[in-house]
Amino acid sequence: MRSFRLTNEEIQSLAARHQTPFLVISLAQVEENYRFFRRHLPRVNVYYAMKANPASRILSLLDSLGAGFDTASAGEMETLAAMGVPPVRMIYANPVKTPDGLRTAARLGVVRMTFDDADEIEKMVSAVPHAEALVRVRIHNEKALVDLNAKFGVNQEEALPLLRRARDAGLTPKGVCFHVGSQALSTEAYEEALLFCRRIFDEAETEGMKLSMLDIGGGFPIPLAGRETPDAEQIMQRISRQLDRLFPETEIWAEPGRFLCGTAVNLVTSVIGVKKRGEESWYTIDEGVYGTLSGAIYDHWTYSFEAVRSGEAKPSTVLGPSCDSIDFVGRGVMLPELKTGDLVLVPDCGAYTSASATTFNGFARAKAFYFEDMPATVAPRREMIA
Ligand SMILES: *Cc1c(COP(=O)(O)O)cnc(C)c1O
Repeated sequence: MRSFRLTNEEIQSLAARHQTPFLVISLAQVEENYRFFRRHLPRVNVYYAMKANPASRILSLLDSLGAGFDTASAGEMETLAAMGVPPVRMIYANPVKTPDGLRTAARLGVVRMTFDDADEIEKMVSAVPHAEALVRVRIHNEKALVDLNAKFGVNQEEALPLLRRARDAGLTPKGVCFHVGSQALSTEAYEEALLFCRRIFDEAETEGMKLSMLDIGGGFPIPLAGRETPDAEQIMQRISRQLDRLFPETEIWAEPGRFLCGTAVNLVTSVIGVKKRGEESWYTIDEGVYGTLSGAIYDHWTYSFEAVRSGEAKPSTVLGPSCDSIDFVGRGVMLPELKTGDLVLVPDCGAYTSASATTFNGFARAKAFYFEDMPATVAPRREMIA
């Protein structure tokens, strides 16, 4: 898997025109990631989890490629509807829906939704009586960076009774969904989840309830600083084989977020202050945990920092610009001796970054540019770098 990365010449040329911090989004990389996913999971349709990065042209690109969208709120559904995305290509995948979200789904015609409790059935019935319901099951997975099963999902034995209740209440019990946790580093959790879903499908069938849809969620990993690069191709191929074996006739969907957008964005920052703490250099840069690097907190993420200046690398600390002591964005980062004004690149920061950035302390959100819009003098067309 390749990632989008600006060259040092491009970084310098861009920084000469635009104040840092800024983001550069590669739509070509998003497209490549989407095609990679579809190639290695050919039977799996995509609902892009737009919370990972809702940049408008990422959404319109994926729309044009035929993707659907995983939404969690009225706002996300409205955004897509305003772009002309038809409601059949949206899933309202929040197991606990707001009154506003349900009204919006009803008005727009979004009928596919997930749930994990009987209480939610009543809410769906009264707002969207023809809803197609997928029950969300809980997956135990220690090999994921971000656990999404603490808050959501029912145990296996609770799934069928819930689908039965949904049917008795007049909804269409459509299938089962799960999320193995974000940045999942092995296939075991997926494979276990698929076996577990197969049992639910079989049990449902003995009761005359034919489930037709399986949603395998997100979690597909990207490179992470300081860790072995996950083999996404191998993970996908194994899942694909299991799907053919266990679900040869079922319609399969997935909700990748990070995988589609994570490697498509570069952040360009500047060093705004240098201090010595003992032997170590501490670099304050102009973007931090309250901005694009918010994933350091919310997403448990470890970013890479790459200096444009070269030199002997030493373990250093990288800090954000706010006046809060939580604003550490990197520890033990290998960097050459830097000076105030030096440029530092953060690659692979397209997922759960700008989406959760704030303007805390009065620091503006980093501006975002699309690589495809850059004049050839700044960024000549080229092959992406591995
Ligand atoms: C966040 C989320 C996703 C996306 O997860 P990634 O790990 O980014 O692929 C998919 N489905 C649901 C329900 C989510 O909440």
